[in-house]
Amino acid sequence: MTITLPFDNSYARLPDRFYARQRAVPVREPGLIAVNDALARALGLDPDALAAPEAVAAFAGNTTLEGAEPIAQAYAGHQFGGWVPQLGDGRALLLGEVVAPDGKRFDIQLKGSGPTPFSRRGDGRAWIGPVIREYIVSEAMAALGLPTTRALAAVTTGEPVWRETALPGAVLVRVAASHIRVGTFQYFAARQDTEALRLLTDHVITRHYPNARTPLDLLDAVTAAQARLIAGWMSFGFIHGVMNTDNMTISGETIDYGPCAFMDDYDPLKVFSSIDQFGRYAYGNQPRIAVWNLAQFASCLLPLMGEEEAAIEAATASINRFPEIYEAEWLRRFRAKIGLATEEDGDADLIEAMLTRMAEGHADFTRTFRGLIDGKAAAEFSDPAAFESWAEDWKARTEREADVRSTMRAANPAYIPRNHRIEAAINAAVTGDYDPFHRLNTILARPFDDQPDAADYRAAPTEEEIVARTFCGT
Ligand code: AMP
Ligand code: MG
Repeated sequence: MTITLPFDNSYARLPDRFYARQRAVPVREPGLIAVNDALARALGLDPDALAAPEAVAAFAGNTTLEGAEPIAQAYAGHQFGGWVPQLGDGRALLLGEVVAPDGKRFDIQLKGSGPTPFSRRGDGRAWIGPVIREYIVSEAMAALGLPTTRALAAVTTGEPVWRETALPGAVLVRVAASHIRVGTFQYFAARQDTEALRLLTDHVITRHYPNARTPLDLLDAVTAAQARLIAGWMSFGFIHGVMNTDNMTISGETIDYGPCAFMDDYDPLKVFSSIDQFGRYAYGNQPRIAVWNLAQFASCLLPLMGEEEAAIEAATASINRFPEIYEAEWLRRFRAKIGLATEEDGDADLIEAMLTRMAEGHADFTRTFRGLIDGKAAAEFSDPAAFESWAEDWKARTEREADVRSTMRAANPAYIPRNHRIEAAINAAVTGDYDPFHRLNTILARPFDDQPDAADYRAAPTEEEIVARTFCGT
């Protein structure tokens, strides 16, 4: 059986300096971990064909699919605020693009496929841990309804990857609206390559924001997309963990599931990433960091925006719209979380009062909000009385609402990818047992449904299960 994907590779038609043509490096023994059937079908691909040995071999990098033009994309970026003039795909290859039945164009990328000219000192590989982690969390993000890159498949390489010890190697087949980042613009801006900036701008406008007419329109659109995305993250207790400019997409999709985590107990200063010593990317800092990143993006567009002073003024005004868009979306989402479908003046204060008590009471973020539906929220607080006194105000407010429960049911997931569950799935996968991984994915595909046979997956971690630190996906 040969698999044919209708590749149409618009990025590979951009000039040579946008990427390096690079083949995947073959591996010893490709093996299938998973194909994402539902996603494959949505993209117009045959899941059975994607699970066939020919496809598994191609995903592991041993063959090149007909029509694919593998490239490692060039980009730069600010990592923890420090400028790095060249990053690029050091362990990933863009195979090409396909247009789905719904007309949307998507990238197919291999992550963990071997060294490229951008690998620097890295080996270009991934071990099974980060592959499993990204698969679970990106698919959970999609099921929660937030824009994200997706996981189409995962395969093993049959080769060890050396980290502190030998670990099984794996490759993630990632799908994205595109892999173009703020850092892609920065790469060309730093080289004062205005022609490339213009080509890239036209490319992303055509691809992601066809209504945009000018670079300023593009900036407006990206600012709005990111403001809405981050408000969505906040509403589910998600901490990205490494919001470097190379990890922020132009499309507005969440990308790069490295040291990310959904928090258990609510804490606005929460940090999981082992390398985020100063809490730059703490939960509560995410909107601010997004603005910082967007300012970097804006500065890349300035050469395309005409007279400098006017351009700076317009770009600044564009980014300054972030707080308004973010706050409106945040309020919309958190109103729904406490069952409010209508808007009243005191709502933001009511929500803030709850969050303050949650932080003081070490309340589990997901369980507390979901617990509002069935009267179980108080049990999440170290001092239930603190919740009860808030709940009096809340009940008074919800008397003016029609269907509080169904509003909350649609906004408060019962199931999130908790760190301890991800870790258990990884530990099993290392031994070749993918059952916990599959079971977790099945549950997380319906995060808002009560699933009686999965009640234990709603539980917060026990003291021994708590995962305090997450690590970069290398
Ligand atoms: P990340 O922190 O995942 O966004 O990666 C930052 C940069 O490091 C990107 O240029 C990656 O391609 C590169 N990188 C990360 N891990 C590896 C690896 N194992 N081999 C080569 N390059 C890597
Ligand atoms: Mg990255």
